[in-house]
Amino acid sequence: MKITLPVAASKLREAKKILVTAHVNPDGDAIGSTLALMQVLREMGKTAQVYIDDKLPKNFSVMPFAEEIRRPREDEKFDADLLVVLDTSPDRIGNVRNLTEAPLLNIDHHVTNKNEDIDLYIEPGAAATCEIIFRLCKEMNAAIDKNIAVCLYTGIATDTGFFKYSNTKPATLRTVADLVELGVEPNLISEQMEKRTFLDLKIVSAALQTTKLYYGGKVVGMFIGENLMRKGETTEGLIDLIRVLEDVDVAFLLTCKEKNVCRVSMRSKAVNVSEIAKRLGGGGHVRAAGCTIYGTFDEAKNLLVRTIGGAMVEMGYLCASDFENRAEISIADFELPEND
Ligand code: AMP
Ligand code: MN
Ligand code: MN
Repeated sequence: MKITLPVAASKLREAKKILVTAHVNPDGDAIGSTLALMQVLREMGKTAQVYIDDKLPKNFSVMPFAEEIRRPREDEKFDADLLVVLDTSPDRIGNVRNLTEAPLLNIDHHVTNKNEDIDLYIEPGAAATCEIIFRLCKEMNAAIDKNIAVCLYTGIATDTGFFKYSNTKPATLRTVADLVELGVEPNLISEQMEKRTFLDLKIVSAALQTTKLYYGGKVVGMFIGENLMRKGETTEGLIDLIRVLEDVDVAFLLTCKEKNVCRVSMRSKAVNVSEIAKRLGGGGHVRAAGCTIYGTFDEAKNLLVRTIGGAMVEMGYLCASDFENRAEISIADFELPEND
C-alpha cells in the first residue's frame, strides 16, 4: 500500500529495533541512504543496524560508519520490529529477507517499484533515495550532522552522475546546497569516488577494447567477462565512457558476476531502458536501468542485444532494416584514419 512521508516517519518513530537494508550490487545511493538513516535512528535513541547482502565497492567504504555494515551469514537472525528497505523493492535484498519476520517499510524512487502488499513510500521524481531521506529527516525534526550529510550527499551525487543526469532537479540542487552548508566538501567526495588504482586503469583500457557498436551505431556495449571481472575491483564509471558516444542512444555494460550469472547496466539518451530491463526481469529508471540474466555470457549477450533492438523497433527508435542488420563494429577492428 502506498503511504505518505508523514506516515513513513511515524512508523520509524514507533519502532525500537530497526534493520535497514538496500539492494544487492549496492551503489552510492544504497549505501549512503542506509548509513544516513541508521545514524539518524541511533540519534533518536533506537537500535539500528544496516545489513547488505553483498561486498561493498571500495570507493564507497569511505562513507562514515560504512565499516558497520554487516553481510548476513547463513541462518543468521536479527531481532527487529521493523525492516526498512531502501532504494529497491524487497525482491533485491538477498538473504537480508531471512534475518527477520518484522513488518516492512519500503522507501524508494524507482518508477518500476509497484509493490501493493507492503507499506511503500515512493517518489519517482526524487533523484535519489538519499534525497527522500533528507526530507524524511526534516519530517521527523531529526538533526543532520556532518557525517549524515556526507552520506546523503554521496548518494545524491552518484545517482545523478554528479548532477549531470536528467534526474537533477531544482529540489535536488537545493538539497545538496543545504548539505554543503552542513559541512560537506564536494571536492573531497568527488576525489574519493573517482579514486582508481593503476590496476583499475589497466582494466579500463582492457574493457574499452571490448566495445562494440550495434544497429548502425545506435547501441553500444562493453563486456566484462569472467577473466576481466576477477582482475578488476570495480566496474563503476565504465558505462559512462561509452554512453557519451555520438549517435548512440542505448549503452549497456554486461558483466559476468559469477558463472552463469550476468549483470546488465543500461543507460540511454531517449529510449525508456527501464521498459527494456523489465522485459528481462529487472527495472530502474527511464534513462538508467539494469537486470540480471541467468545463462552463459554469450547467451546473455545475444539475448540482451536482441531484446534492446526489438524494443527499440517497437518504440520507434530503430527501423526494421537496422534491426535485421546484424553487423557488429568492434573497436578492436576499428582502424585509425591515416594522417593527411
Ligand atoms: P546500475 O546500472 O546498476 O547503476 O543500475 C541502474 C538503475 O537500475 C539503478 O537505479 C538500479 O537500482 C536499477 N536496477 C539495476 N538492476 C536492477 C534489477 N535487477 N532490478 C531492478 N532494478 C535494477
Ligand atoms: Mn541504487
Ligand atoms: Mn537510487
